Amino acid sequence: MDSIILLRYGEIHLKGLNRPFFEHKLVQAIRVAARGFGRIEVEHGQGRFFISGYEPARQEELMAALCRVFGVHSVSPAAVVGSDMQEVRAAAVEVTKAEQGQGGSFKVEARRSNKHYPLNSMEIAADVGECVLDAMDNVRVNVHDPDFRVYVEVRAERAFIYTRILPGPGGMPLGSAGKAMLLLSGGIDSPVAGYMLMRRGVELEAVYFNSPPHTTERAHLKVKKLAEVLSSYGCPIRLHSVYFTEIQEAIYERCDGDYTVILMRRFMMRIAQRLAQEAECGCLLTGENLGQVASQTMQAITVTNAICDIPVFRPLIAYDKNEIVDKAQQIGTYDISIEPYEDCCTVFVPKHPVTKPRMKAVLIEERKLDIDALIERALEKSETTLIGLE
Ligand code: ATP
Ligand code: MG
Repeated sequence: MDSIILLRYGEIHLKGLNRPFFEHKLVQAIRVAARGFGRIEVEHGQGRFFISGYEPARQEELMAALCRVFGVHSVSPAAVVGSDMQEVRAAAVEVTKAEQGQGGSFKVEARRSNKHYPLNSMEIAADVGECVLDAMDNVRVNVHDPDFRVYVEVRAERAFIYTRILPGPGGMPLGSAGKAMLLLSGGIDSPVAGYMLMRRGVELEAVYFNSPPHTTERAHLKVKKLAEVLSSYGCPIRLHSVYFTEIQEAIYERCDGDYTVILMRRFMMRIAQRLAQEAECGCLLTGENLGQVASQTMQAITVTNAICDIPVFRPLIAYDKNEIVDKAQQIGTYDISIEPYEDCCTVFVPKHPVTKPRMKAVLIEERKLDIDALIERALEKSETTLIGLE
């Protein structure tokens, strides 16, 4: 009895004529996730892939890796046997004993794609159910609310039997929806925003605004660690660390203190947009969230947004903080985000930042600065690091 991993994909099947493109991207992502597990084979079935060729002892580990691949709906370890009923029965008993040895109530769910098979689905289920009942003392049938299910899929010449379905992240395969420039701070929100767009198939580059000596190298390192976690979901990330000190100091010295944050944010957007265009990113991406802080009121976002020519995606805009925290914990960024190193925003935050900035006033403040020269110098002193797998 051989074992394979049955991998189901979700939404891709809705994609009509573009389906082969999405499937190709998913296979690429599967191969990246399975690196180091031997020469895997990926066979295409309807709405699913059959994965084999890995070291059997590492099946669980490989499944865990596949459960992090965007576009994967779920995976199951499945026994593969010939489609003869004798073999199906024996495999069903063996798999159930091995995986559901604790017993309980169960139901057999059978499907057959071979319509010439001597038994129909109901008959296969009844037949297999009886064999499992005979072979195990501690099980009983419950078709309405079973403790576990035994799945039998009979195809042309093979049958697949499994009892476990592990959920994947869903979404779309990475690289199927373009690339975004993520404004990545060391906070809780922006890494979650990055994850959410990656899950929709978007690859990332990231930009961090670094203000040494007001912010420390540890804060910078923290951002690198966050980028590393994000990249572990399937793509390397180029992190641009932009030297932001001079801009912040210029704003601080020359402009009305109440406008510091909004002016800073407009600089961030200008620079991020420039990097996005160079890297062929179709949008900017932030962890902004309505009402969280002064720079995230509707008026403040309007003023920040006004200098952008490309879309700015803010996937967290309507989330509650506790929902974002839950997500951050789930994706593995939370513990890094709460390390206590200041980011550049906290250093220069004024006592009474405006919550309803007026565009006219912002433009008056900006006239006090040589915006182009400041941006050029900030970019000159920037560095780019490639984070994560190649
Ligand atoms: P986060 O938890 O993501 O830091 P926040 O709640 O602290 O967000 P702000 O500090 O107002 O909110 O920042 C809003 C967004 O602006 C962040 O989510 C991030 O996308 C971007 N941002 C803020 N500071 C930086 C920085 N130093 N480098 C890069 N992006 C930044
Ligand atoms: Mg922040």
